Amino acid sequence: MKENPPRLFGTSGIRGRFGEVVTLELAADTGRALATVLGGRGRVAVGYDTRTSSQLLENALIAGLLECGCDVIRLGMVPTPLVGYATSRLGADAGVMITASHNPAPYNGIKLWNPDGMAYRPSQEREIESVIHEGSFLKREWDGLGSIREMDITSRYMDEVLSMVKMERELKVVIDCGCGAASHISPLIFRRSGCSVITLNSHPDGFFPGRDPEPVPENLSELMETVKSTGADLGIAHDGDADRMVAIDDKGRFASFDKLLALMAREIGGKIITTVDASLCVDECLGDCGEVIRTRVGDVHVANSIAEENADFGGEPSGTWLHPDFCMCPDGILSALRVAELVSKKGSLSSLLDEVPSYPNIRDKIPCPDERKKDVMERVASELAGQFRDPAGVESIDGVRISMRDGSWVLVRPSGTEPYIRVTLEGKTDEEAREIHEITLSYLEKIIG
Ligand code: MG
Repeated sequence: MKENPPRLFGTSGIRGRFGEVVTLELAADTGRALATVLGGRGRVAVGYDTRTSSQLLENALIAGLLECGCDVIRLGMVPTPLVGYATSRLGADAGVMITASHNPAPYNGIKLWNPDGMAYRPSQEREIESVIHEGSFLKREWDGLGSIREMDITSRYMDEVLSMVKMERELKVVIDCGCGAASHISPLIFRRSGCSVITLNSHPDGFFPGRDPEPVPENLSELMETVKSTGADLGIAHDGDADRMVAIDDKGRFASFDKLLALMAREIGGKIITTVDASLCVDECLGDCGEVIRTRVGDVHVANSIAEENADFGGEPSGTWLHPDFCMCPDGILSALRVAELVSKKGSLSSLLDEVPSYPNIRDKIPCPDERKKDVMERVASELAGQFRDPAGVESIDGVRISMRDGSWVLVRPSGTEPYIRVTLEGKTDEEAREIHEITLSYLEKIIG
């Protein structure tokens, strides 16, 4: 029996350690396969992040595109949202970003974009994957090869983003780009919006010397302290490729992912898409201002739901937000400016956040080898609900989500990019959250062994 070839694309494109999973050969083959799927013609916009392996992979991928007949618009070192933007505004036939987003320095990845700026859907990724596995690349002779045009789209992007926001007072903002791809853009665009800007880690460096590229509270103590010590109104941190952002309030506190999403959902109003792991506070904060629709975790699922539902805004609690009035690619720079605009209009971020209803929320992860994930999740689906006193329902839109009779819930899902099982839960009280957390973790530890 013929075995299925291994999957190359996970929840966020191709992702893994450079030299092991993500290799020069794989980058070239991805370029060849994309050009083949595009029929060996058209233009592809290509960008890369600050990682030490990014230029090498970009060169290999571009070589593959050219070899199979596509022209390349070379954007250089840019944040992911600029690739989505360039692909849609320049009428390119596809976009490619070389990045491993928030993963540590040894990782890298490849993510593909559609002409409307939306990430490639899983079915499109499968098509690329099968061309790579079959090696059925289009052959081009010397007179059919593609060519490269270099283009700096930064000013055009900044002008258009700035036309979307209006600050009502001058804010002092501390920006931590984590030495990632937004280093040259995010601080500059905030200054141009009228903010007074202090920067941290805002020089590109693939060793990420300032902090880990994942913008989570444990990596942002310097940012929190700087916001407090400078009396700033707001702190902003991006992940490595700046499709995400997180905020620090004027008291130096990390803004809860869900509460920030809830505030933005209410500010924009209308049809709001979020994921199965988002807090009930999003629904409660939106109230009569609109409707919340939940979808699978992953920005491509949020983007798909936005398109299907013709929604006004969509976001994952991780700080990956999509603004369909601008582009269908998640954009951490526009998201950050919109948070600043909200603060300039409505008052301090600390007071805005304190008004959002709060339920104790725990996010955790437990190591689990990739090859055990399937079997572990099957057991979770059939057994975990039985561990709780008062389960009300089990859903499997994405992973396994068990709701309790009082509205508390727990979501267990395998990470698409790392060897972990992720646990997200919300309790109506601290005690209940702790209890759900303990039961879930001890059950998972027992079955993973
Ligand atoms: Mg990212």
